[in-house]
Amino acid sequence: MRCRVCKSNNLKEVINLGKQPLANKYPKNNYEILSEKKYELKVLFCKTCKAGQISKIIDRNLLFKDYYYLSSVNKKLVEHFVTLSKKLTKYDFVVDIGSNDGILLQPLKKLKINSIGIDPSINIGKIANERGLKTFIGFFNKKIIEKILKKYKKPDLVVASSIITHLKDPIEFAKNIKLFLRENGTLIIEIEYLLNFIKNFEYERFYFDRPFYYSANSIDRLFKNYGMSLYDIEKIDIHGGSLRCYIKNSKNFTKTKRCINVLLEEKNNLKLKIFDDFNKKIKALSKNLKNKLINLNKKNKYIIGYGAPARVSTITNVCDINSNLIQYIIDDSPLKQNRFSPGKHISILPKKNNINKRIDIVIVFAFEYFKDIKKNFKDSKVKFYKPIPFKKLL
Ligand SMILES: [Zn+2]
Repeated sequence: MRCRVCKSNNLKEVINLGKQPLANKYPKNNYEILSEKKYELKVLFCKTCKAGQISKIIDRNLLFKDYYYLSSVNKKLVEHFVTLSKKLTKYDFVVDIGSNDGILLQPLKKLKINSIGIDPSINIGKIANERGLKTFIGFFNKKIIEKILKKYKKPDLVVASSIITHLKDPIEFAKNIKLFLRENGTLIIEIEYLLNFIKNFEYERFYFDRPFYYSANSIDRLFKNYGMSLYDIEKIDIHGGSLRCYIKNSKNFTKTKRCINVLLEEKNNLKLKIFDDFNKKIKALSKNLKNKLINLNKKNKYIIGYGAPARVSTITNVCDINSNLIQYIIDDSPLKQNRFSPGKHISILPKKNNINKRIDIVIVFAFEYFKDIKKNFKDSKVKFYKPIPFKKLL
């Protein structure tokens, strides 16, 4: 197999998480539970461009046609995009790829910045359009570009936050951006950052929705190969530490100092041997979580989970945790409620009527939002834990 980012054949398997279901497919009944499929989850690392990638790519239609992730349910993400929108006032026409329910389009509209979105999910794109946030429903490809350019001029800014990690073919994406973007226009992409995942032992960030785990070096190479230049990088704190990369639609555009520094840091630190340590540690951390839950159950503690993001699937399937160990999981998104977690089938319920005096322990899967989650629990005996690494949250 060749690297899907730089085409080299310098790939090496670095992580194997065993058989995993699709992390964003929440079965709603027995029929869906029985027809659930699992696939081997292996991550390969490219020694040439320093990108991580899952060996098996699942059909994108299967994953994204009906999707359960509503960005605007997530307060911190809403703030993130409000802040980003304020940096974009100098642009004349903005296209947001993977615009979801309009989480960036909404603040752009408020600032009177001309903008439209593209999103493949029919149910979510419809929500955005109903809110008056113009969204083209479909994948970002030549067909949709042609459709848009019939009605609109070329954008001088394209934003793709947390998108290119989810694509099947990053090279096609780069070529399409080249086609779509105005000469000297800017592409802003936000990527979940491979080096952070590895440094923080966050194996739960790997799942089939995201076949790619980029480094700055892999982004640099990808866009350079198609006549564009990565020129600036900001470190941002969403999705476990991400990079915001600025790419200019022109060749050899001068790089900022901070951009050069990130590229250099990776050259020194993101090497094959970093994964040895990672693999040892994640085995130990997974075992520890399961043991802790077994012991707490023996002490008759009533344990629930809070938040059912995709990582619930990776964690519960790697650690083999089911509803014998966690009674149910509360999630605030109506699209996930009254369904089951992928693979281990723990019930997902709304908070209404499900926060009660029996609860002793809450495993906070959506730990980024702990402050908000904690407010739902008035009872002072309740203890909160982050799952990986298993740690008390205060
Ligand atoms: Zn590569």
